[in-house]
Amino acid sequence: KPLIGVLALQGGVAEHLAALERSGADARPVRRPEELAAVHGIVVPGGESTTMTRLLDTFELYEPLRERLAAGLPAYGSCAGMIMLSGEVLDEGRKPPAVRPLGALDIVVRRNAFGRQVDSFETDLDFAGIPDGPVHAVFIRAPWVEKVGADVEVLATVPDDPDNTGRNEAAGRIVAVQQGPVLATSFHPELVGGDERVHRYFVKIVQARLNTAAQA
Ligand code: GLN
Repeated sequence: KPLIGVLALQGGVAEHLAALERSGADARPVRRPEELAAVHGIVVPGGESTTMTRLLDTFELYEPLRERLAAGLPAYGSCAGMIMLSGEVLDEGRKPPAVRPLGALDIVVRRNAFGRQVDSFETDLDFAGIPDGPVHAVFIRAPWVEKVGADVEVLATVPDDPDNTGRNEAAGRIVAVQQGPVLATSFHPELVGGDERVHRYFVKIVQARLNTAAQA
């Protein structure tokens, strides 16, 4: 069984731990460099990316995490976690930005992108690589992906009229991506009970890495 850590400085930690356990992984919180060193993959949860940046420094985890990611550690970030894994953050009105992303994904994300009215919404969307129908996606002051590098695969975009209001600014926006063993979603699958397909997808990525490492 792969051992997957959840960065546990702040945010939706318990929900990810539970979803990972239900998806066939051993899951444990990560707060210290020794704990980070032991895991085969890491989840960066939702929360608040400016606070997470600060806490990564306080807990002396920023550099160790950046280094493990650069060395190919599989990672999954949801919402604020996507922001943290990105290469560049657009943050309206904040210069210099208060978020220092970890650079594991060649993407540019916009924080709080969906605007005040559509701050939070839910929709069903098609997710490439995930079978058995659309995934229910919960967006809470979510980022979207504004630019992707050549090696980044787009796994999901916002469908037309996502919340049946006729407002369509969000349609077509990129909200799930993968680059090698690094996965990110703007939304929170850990908040949808009874559907672990996104977590299973990530556990599979981690397991595949472990198998490759065992063969090498
Ligand atoms: N708005 C938060 C941020 O920018 C993310 C919100 C979330 O993780 N639900 O960090």
